[in-house]
Formats: sequence, structure tokens, C-alpha cells
Amino acid sequence: MSCCSASTVAKKEGHHCPACGSSCLPVSYQTMLHHVQYPENQHIMGQYAFCANSICDVVYFSSLNTISKDNVRFLRNHQDAMLCYCFDITQSCYQSACEQGTSESIKAFVIQQTTSKFCACNIKNPSGRCCLADFKRMEQKASHL
Ligand SMILES: [Zn+2]
Repeated sequence: MSCCSASTVAKKEGHHCPACGSSCLPVSYQTMLHHVQYPENQHIMGQYAFCANSICDVVYFSSLNTISKDNVRFLRNHQDAMLCYCFDITQSCYQSACEQGTSESIKAFVIQQTTSKFCACNIKNPSGRCCLADFKRMEQKASHL
């Protein structure tokens, strides 16, 4: 079993980003603790959701509060959009691998580590979720180019 199967606890009721209106999934307190910078990390209360829209400035939000990219450690320091936070694979790097036909070995590596439970998506990925679905999404995008 990989970490992917553990994240099916997502509630059906919608969380909508107050900035962009995207429908968002809930995120755990533990995940947020590893991403939100000091001192904002001391004031995380209640249930937050994660906005996956890369052009949206909001990363986490609750009914009372929003946390923007400037207050999230990883996003503050890195300009490249990440695909796999555990193994340091950027979206642009995977996209060019798709175009060059070398993406399969990259994905196989990630799947292998994930099934060996060497990934740490719930900590490393600001969404708290496994990135394998994002790999699939990028492949579909690349094949429509
Ligand atoms: Zn948003």
C-alpha cells in the first residue's frame, strides 16, 4: 500500500478558495506545520484546505484565515513549480522528459520509492497528498500539445 491510498479521507463537502474560487481539499495540521513559516505556524487553528492553483496567491485557508505563498517556506524559496517534493522533481523537468520520451523511468523511480514507503508526501508536499496523480495530469497535458 502506498501513501496514496491513505488520503481517501477527503470530505465531500466543498472548500472553495476565497481568492480564486477553486474547489480545494482539506489539509492536515501536521502537514501545515512543516510548511507554514514562523510565526504564522503558531496560529494555525481549525480546519484548513489547500489551494492547488499555482497562480493563486493563497496556499492554505480556513473560514477565519488565509496563508499566502509568502508565508510558506518552500514556495517562498523556490521559483520552480514542483511536481514531486519528496524526490525533487520540478514540473518543467518532467514536462521536458515527457517530450523527450524519458518520463517513464522517472515515474517508475517515484512509484518504486512510494511503494517502498520511502516517500514523505504528507510532510514534504504542501498539499499533504501523493504526487502520482499530478504525474498523470502532466502526461495528459504533454500528450495534448
Ligand atoms: Zn486559490
